[in-house]
Amino acid sequence: MVECRRALSPSGLPDMDYALNPYSGCSHGCVYCYAPEVTRSPWEGWRAPRVKSNIVSRLSMELPNVSGVIGIGTVTDPYQPVERKYMLTRRCLEVLKAHSFEIHMHTKSDLILRDLDLLAEMPGTVGLTVTGISERHSKILEPGAPLPARRFSAMRSLKDAGVDVYALVGPVLNHLEGHEVEFVDAVAGTGVGTMYLDPLNDRPLLSARVSRRGYRGSPKALAEIRRLGASVGIRVLDVF
Ligand code: SF4
Repeated sequence: MVECRRALSPSGLPDMDYALNPYSGCSHGCVYCYAPEVTRSPWEGWRAPRVKSNIVSRLSMELPNVSGVIGIGTVTDPYQPVERKYMLTRRCLEVLKAHSFEIHMHTKSDLILRDLDLLAEMPGTVGLTVTGISERHSKILEPGAPLPARRFSAMRSLKDAGVDVYALVGPVLNHLEGHEVEFVDAVAGTGVGTMYLDPLNDRPLLSARVSRRGYRGSPKALAEIRRLGASVGIRVLDVF
């Protein structure tokens, strides 16, 4: 547990005015995560999230003085497993909803469906990250995260509930080469209309972690997914 000095920080990301991260660290443990580098945190400790115990009360105090879109989960996943117990993301959503704020949220967990009642009634957008369809590769690359099928299913459920949801595809790695058709079919099957493509971030420590496990960024798979996505009527955009 830690106490935060501020709940919101100005965001440099497009479509978000402020960033809100209820946890520090992320037990999804994605090999390609660049948040440890961005936050200058040691990679070894990143998978043990710290709970920001006062974030809900801090958020309530700060909201009257800010305006714009609140980005949730910019450097950690707001629906990582610890959220089941502490429910900080849900409680922050309740406060944001009460103040009629628009949100932009990122996650790779189907735990988000627990909060469908709130999300369906809030203005905003949700991005679900998917990096492939293979369970084997997901267990290597994202060892603490829900498997791909659960994420595709969550996208479908969010879409069916009327939430504005898109697929955040990335990083696009070489294990997708030769499987682009099945992958794009899976995305299209969720009904989402927009897909953002993300190449592998080229930070040296991150690239080393990825390549040690036999992976690399794949411009070839990325180009093919772009082509196939457009061919089935999905709006394909580059991430940020
Ligand atoms: S879910 Fe996101 S924040 Fe968490 S480890 Fe993976 S890439 Fe990093």
